[in-house]
Amino acid sequence: MGRRVAIFFVLVLFLALHLSHRAGPIYLFLAIPFLFLSAFLFFTLNDRVCAIGVVAFSVAAIAYEWVRSNDASYFVSIGLYAFALWVVQRYRDVWNRKIEGIELQKREMEKETKTLEERHLTRLESLKHLEKRVNGLVHLFEIARHFNECLDFSRLISILNVEIVREVSFTRGTVILLKSEPNAEKGIERCFSFGSQQRMDEDLSAQFAQECLNVIGSSSQVIKIEPAHSQDRLRFSSYGTQFPLWLFPLFVEHHLIAVLAVEGGDMNDFQKLEILASQLALQVKKIRLYETVKETSILDGLTNVFVRRHFLERFYEELRRAVRFRFPLSVLMVDVDHFKSYNDEFGHLVGDRALREVAQIIRANIRRVDVIGRYGGEEFLIVAPEIEKKQGFELAERVRSAVARKRLQLYDEEIQLTVSIGLSSFPEDMPGGSLPIEGVDFSQDFVSLLIEKADQALYRAKEEGRNRVVGCS
Ligand code: GH3
Ligand code: MG
Ligand code: MG
Repeated sequence: MGRRVAIFFVLVLFLALHLSHRAGPIYLFLAIPFLFLSAFLFFTLNDRVCAIGVVAFSVAAIAYEWVRSNDASYFVSIGLYAFALWVVQRYRDVWNRKIEGIELQKREMEKETKTLEERHLTRLESLKHLEKRVNGLVHLFEIARHFNECLDFSRLISILNVEIVREVSFTRGTVILLKSEPNAEKGIERCFSFGSQQRMDEDLSAQFAQECLNVIGSSSQVIKIEPAHSQDRLRFSSYGTQFPLWLFPLFVEHHLIAVLAVEGGDMNDFQKLEILASQLALQVKKIRLYETVKETSILDGLTNVFVRRHFLERFYEELRRAVRFRFPLSVLMVDVDHFKSYNDEFGHLVGDRALREVAQIIRANIRRVDVIGRYGGEEFLIVAPEIEKKQGFELAERVRSAVARKRLQLYDEEIQLTVSIGLSSFPEDMPGGSLPIEGVDFSQDFVSLLIEKADQALYRAKEEGRNRVVGCS
């Protein structure tokens, strides 16, 4: 359409020139391009209306001029017009091919541009996706770095509770720790719940954990229980389980050490949870190792009670508390009677077992708050907070009679042991018998003083015939 309008305007201009009689004979030569144009339009572009219009105009103009000027030279223009037609006709195919070529090129370029645009858009899309994933991963690694900083399970769970909840969408998670002793059968040691809907009921939590462990069996793969699996749903329904339920077995060096159970997770976050599970496995192992090292440094290997150094630290703390809150405290020094002769008679191996049993009997007969340590070879010290001398006697008597009553079956031997116990109490046995004032006259010497008094009492118990409790006089 634009082409026709352009031609129309040129023709109007041409007409205006003609009517103003400015053109003269030269005007004939100006007609020639129009003749070419008309031929071109007709044969190549197939624009018949336009071509006929241009031809009609040109012929009319020549005829008019010929009649007006009665000049035979106008015949020349007819000849030129014929020549123009011949030229156009002659090169029509070449032009057509060129035009087609140009159009093809144009179409191909358009196609290519479109493909490039599409590719660009997909790249942009995948870049955005990648950026999102990278950000997620960076955050996950930051969380993993925080994992590295914690050395106990409660801190680990609080990180899971605060940071993972922000990064991954799920309703509840449970870390199920398995027993780590080499020969122990596979069983649950502890489990921790985290997430927005933590399981508060410990029994329910333990039952859920056991069910997860049963499902995991010996699989090393993640187990996905979708809402559609009606059988599995039924299996977990009594624990208020949210679906989907994903069970990630946490392996370290081919040993299943824990299971991470995630309830109500979003499929988009599955990969994040997989990464998290692998980090968690290492961290569980690390915390376990740390706990073991800590335990071995404070617990006596044979009797499993505190070693002397740690016991004294705890004793000092308890005494400080007793001074601060002004409550009493009793100290029991327990010594096995004639232990040397048992050793001589049955051998050291039996002696060791006997010591371990005595430690166990003592532990079973004191309170949870009481602190027990191995003070010497076959001597134990007990600190009983908030217990004055009279109750201290009762506690010591309970321990003594429990040991005396017990028949120990050690290897092939059955032996019976007795213990003597020396007792000292705070503040009664302190110099002056009154409570020291914290920060003024409280010192570590009071710990030594109380131990010394209990030792003196023990010496007297031995002297008086053993298997008895004697208080500090
Ligand atoms: P009493 O206290 O009644 O006066 O007699 P006793 O025979 O217990 O006296 P003593 O304290 O002299 O001997 C303690 C013995 O305990 C000496 C040592 O052989 C034994 N003993 C100390 N530590 C261990 C140990 O870890 N294992 C074994 N098997 N024996 C130990
Ligand atoms: Mg002894
Ligand atoms: Mg002794």
